[in-house]
Amino acid sequence: MQHGQKVSCIGLGAMGWGIASNLASKQEGVNVVSQVLVWNRTKSKSEQHAATFGTKSVETLADAARADVVVTCLPTSTEVAAVANELGPNLRPGMLWIDCTSGDPVTTQKTADFLFQLGVDMVDCPVSGGPDGALCGNLTAMVGGASFSRAKPFISCFAKKKIVHCGGIGAGNAVKAANNCLNVSHLVLGAEALLALAKFGVHAGTALEAINASSGRSLQTEVRLPAEVLSRKFNYGFKMGLMLKDVNTAIQGLGMQDDGVSLIPRVKEILQMSTDQHGFDADYTTVVKTLEDRAGLNLSSQSGTGTQTNFS
Ligand code: NDP
Repeated sequence: MQHGQKVSCIGLGAMGWGIASNLASKQEGVNVVSQVLVWNRTKSKSEQHAATFGTKSVETLADAARADVVVTCLPTSTEVAAVANELGPNLRPGMLWIDCTSGDPVTTQKTADFLFQLGVDMVDCPVSGGPDGALCGNLTAMVGGASFSRAKPFISCFAKKKIVHCGGIGAGNAVKAANNCLNVSHLVLGAEALLALAKFGVHAGTALEAINASSGRSLQTEVRLPAEVLSRKFNYGFKMGLMLKDVNTAIQGLGMQDDGVSLIPRVKEILQMSTDQHGFDADYTTVVKTLEDRAGLNLSSQSGTGTQTNFS
């Protein structure tokens, strides 16, 4: 393995910010990265990143090509393809491209083919763990592509929780899309259950106390519902429009057709309705507000005084 390579990070949003900071941090026993260049569409963010983490803010995308490794973390594969296109003339054979966007497999495969013709290897490397996980370097990475071994030392800087090689190029995107379907489906199911219990007269906090020590628990019941919904913060840090993009990727890209039985297309409808209502940038946990509105209940203010049905 070569040591001390120059890495360019493109996209310093909720996730890219922490990913770039961990690539820049001098970690004991790790000598993979010599310098981190950062480029962001809104330049003030890259300047702030440089001032905070000792990275180097570059003016233009062409400047960002002066590196051995490019790391992108952008909203969708469309922006990644556009950046690859723009960078194309400045790229050099032998470079490596690690795309941390939660993308769609087909567009990713096309971008990888384009880069391959320029002599640049690409892996898709979507991540899970949220903005806090990105800042701590404690992400899970789902990687697709033949250059996995080459990319792994760099991915290790920000994905200390788990790195899984899922298969060929685009396989990481496919797994990530399925993962996020499960994430938001668990959230919607959890909220539906709590709303039904609220109508029955059991407070959400009380119900979660029991459920979280039982077989129905999930990350959403254990963490997201109490921390973001019952608290009324709705501020996990993941935009609802981006979650909708992942669910659409799964439905279209993985062929999860609406056969009238599958649950995920139903969840997509609810997410679409909520995105129309609250906007693309609303936190994805806001989807619960749409369910609350329909039920005419607020999960945290509900006091557990509803009429209890006698099941005996
Ligand atoms: P953000 O919206 O916070 O950040 C998006 C970044 O992309 C910003 O740096 C933004 O620049 C830049 N950008 C947007 N459009 C363009 C464009 N046309 N050209 C160049 N740069 C552009 O998104 P996240 O960081 O939350 O998400 C990034 C990816 O990571 C997405 O695919 C998302 O699904 C995924 N993800 C997000 C998680 C989360 O919890 N937030 C968790 C795991 C994965 P600017 O600052 O100028 O707006």
